[in-house]
Amino acid sequence: MKKKFKIENDSGLNYIVTFDDEAGSLKASCTCQAGQHFTLCKHVIKYMEEDKEIAEALENYGLIDIYNEYLEKKEEAEQLKEEAKNLKKKFARLLLGRYRNKK
Ligand SMILES: [Zn+2]
Repeated sequence: MKKKFKIENDSGLNYIVTFDDEAGSLKASCTCQAGQHFTLCKHVIKYMEEDKEIAEALENYGLIDIYNEYLEKKEEAEQLKEEAKNLKKKFARLLLGRYRNKK
């Protein structure tokens, strides 16, 4: 399986996204700046999510579990960040807030 997609971004630049498993393992690449630095870019993710054949290949090569674990951890991290933010607010309110006069 070898698939190539062409994406035009808002500034009219074209990126080529490629998925290829002809060498025995699934490889993806993108010609955008992130892709050129081997960073998982939104263009690759777009086709992972939209293209059925690519989704199947990810599963067959045992890669989807790692990706899903990443999504799960990312979600957990966001929740923890939110909890930390709320605790900081609560602490600040208690420590720094005006104190109530009990007269
Ligand atoms: Zn890209």
